[in-house]
Amino acid sequence: MSRAVAHNSMSAIFLDRDGVINVDRGYVHRIEDFEFIPGIFELTRFAVQQLGWLVIVITNQAGIARGIYDEATYLRLTQWMCECFSARHAPISKVYHCPYHPEHGVGHYRRTHDWRKPLPGMILQAQIDFDLDLSRSVLIGDKISDIEAGAAAGIKMCVRIDPHATPPSATDLPHQVVCNLEDALSLFQRQYAVHCAGKDGVA
Ligand SMILES: [Mg+2]
Repeated sequence: MSRAVAHNSMSAIFLDRDGVINVDRGYVHRIEDFEFIPGIFELTRFAVQQLGWLVIVITNQAGIARGIYDEATYLRLTQWMCECFSARHAPISKVYHCPYHPEHGVGHYRRTHDWRKPLPGMILQAQIDFDLDLSRSVLIGDKISDIEAGAAAGIKMCVRIDPHATPPSATDLPHQVVCNLEDALSLFQRQYAVHCAGKDGVA
């Protein structure tokens, strides 16, 4: 009969874009300004190849709201970025972006939207789209608003990249802080290495 035990849901590593995937130069929208941060492909390859997880990108794109660049420009860069990940054997399953801003948006882009971090809308949409188990997923961001979105969605392991490794303050949500993506990978490997041994290899 049915051997459907609890979990067939997939896990995912959620990545913010600017400051995690690429150097945050502010409203990056051109390929020539898009500089990958060292360690990003190793991190995503571990997730995809060793753990069988999905890679999901969730990015606020207020630059679209502000009229600094348009959706077509954003999508061209995103397609190129995804091709770079695929070429390095760490394909991104989907990129979600929020083009709205409640105060600085121009025209119809000026609005509140539950996809805009710190709200968890993009993560919750991905959960529906891919049948994800968020309690067994990981989020990596560089701002407290990333951590807030992850926590609100129910992601247990939220990691903030901070070159100065400023510990969470009393007002922050609990999360882990690492200096760079290499340290994030080490943390990730320590946490989930047991799963590399085999599918049901947990003693
Ligand atoms: Mg960021």
